Amino acid sequence: MGSSYSINSIASKISKCTACELHKNRTLTVPGHGHPKSKLMIIGEAPGNNEDKNGLPFIGRSGQILDNLLNSIGLDRTSIFITNMVKCRPPENRNPKSMEISQCSSFLDMQISAINPLVIITLGRLSLKKFLPDIPISKARGLVHQWNNYKIFPVYHPAAALYKPTLLPKMMDDFKKISFIINEFGN
Ligand code: URA
Repeated sequence: MGSSYSINSIASKISKCTACELHKNRTLTVPGHGHPKSKLMIIGEAPGNNEDKNGLPFIGRSGQILDNLLNSIGLDRTSIFITNMVKCRPPENRNPKSMEISQCSSFLDMQISAINPLVIITLGRLSLKKFLPDIPISKARGLVHQWNNYKIFPVYHPAAALYKPTLLPKMMDDFKKISFIINEFGN
């Protein structure tokens, strides 16, 4: 599936967006970052404080966990594309509201078409909900699901491991499966 917009032109549209109230408090938009034609697209929830200041996704503590998980399967950020459901930081790091997610969803849809990844990894409950609204994360995680032309592979959000370190081994097992999926379907 092609797209009429490049990743850079989508980022430029995002930088001008005032569709929801999140734009009022942002320092920078956080459109997403990485390889524009990656086989792997990772979708988190929303930028936090560090991300808002720098315009880059997952550069705080959750980002360190994500980097470790990626490195554990021989990947790093240069070969994948990472973004979030919403591109501006919600105040006090609250969860984005449904309305904010739906106002921002056309940007995410444009990014998915532009990248056309083999696998979309959803991090956490909110990004899972876009693709598989009826399956709880505890049941969906670590399994390959189909959504339109894409394989969806849900995992827990890395921030969950900060609060519940016992989730980390499960997350590492889930990430191991990602390299198998890429090897099996990726060529
Ligand atoms: N940082 C992000 O960019 N996204 C998250 O979901 C959490 C932290």
